[in-house]
Amino acid sequence: MSEPTVSSRYIRQTIFPGIGPEGQQKLLAARVAIIGCGATGTVLANHLARAGVGRLTIVDRDFIELNNLQRQLLFDEQDLADHLPKAVAAERKLRAINSEIEVQGVVADANPDNIEKLIEGATLVMDGTDNFETRYILNDACVKHNIPWIYTGAVSSYGMSQTIIPGETACLRCLSPDIPPPGIAATCDTAGVVGPIVAAVASISAAEAIKLIVGQGDLNRGIIHFDVWYNSFEQFGSAGPRFDCPACQQRNFEFLNQEIGAQTVSLCGRNAIQIRQPGSHIPLAELAERVGEVSHITARNDFLLRFTVDDYELTVFADARAIIKGHPG
Ligand SMILES: [Zn+2]
Repeated sequence: MSEPTVSSRYIRQTIFPGIGPEGQQKLLAARVAIIGCGATGTVLANHLARAGVGRLTIVDRDFIELNNLQRQLLFDEQDLADHLPKAVAAERKLRAINSEIEVQGVVADANPDNIEKLIEGATLVMDGTDNFETRYILNDACVKHNIPWIYTGAVSSYGMSQTIIPGETACLRCLSPDIPPPGIAATCDTAGVVGPIVAAVASISAAEAIKLIVGQGDLNRGIIHFDVWYNSFEQFGSAGPRFDCPACQQRNFEFLNQEIGAQTVSLCGRNAIQIRQPGSHIPLAELAERVGEVSHITARNDFLLRFTVDDYELTVFADARAIIKGHPG
């Protein structure tokens, strides 16, 4: 029996027995959706593009800011100068890293309206978000469609990874039935975050993704939690679904089915909010003409328009969203 041939690009992982040429073919045939491309998302995307995951969809709603460069490994100062949305900058970087795979950046807010479309056909979904609201929606959508997903979280100097296989392992709601109330969970804007924990915990999750796709190795069927400042590492053993879980047992997808309408959310990491009008599209060129008469436009490209109104800075995206923050000056 002849072995499948693969690009010499992947030789260092195909000579690793756990992957081999057969595993590489599975990676090349896989489609992974990465929801959120900030600190953890850039590391996940970087690993999976280099490993040869054949189709990557990168979804992110935000643009790059100076304080992102400390830990968001795909971005640089030129991206910042170009006012690029993260999904666009990530797509360009990943294509430059590996032109043999398909990479699609999507500038959008992952929400109940679009999440099922975004993950459609995915072998696996990776959590690169920074908030529980989106993770609970993601959990509902993945459980509903029986798609494995991997939770990755990092704040301060600790991080957590959980591999969720619907029906086999505990899901997010098995372990935490209700979304933590705002202000309870530590966030990067209040507790800060050291760069290496982000890369470390996202690398654990990327390894989980590779093992899951190739069907080899020992999957983390519980929770891995560790701290790079105090060098603690804990693995909480395998947990099956909880018998009364609203999501994976009762199939009551409360977060996915929440009432749809214009929504406002505050964004982690800075003093900003996002407002959106679902299902709409804003012609940015037209808007720029109208805004230019009454306001100062500070950034403009194919993807966004930024201007100031009184003490606020508004960044408007074509998918009918605006991120509003207090004016830095
Ligand atoms: Zn569950």
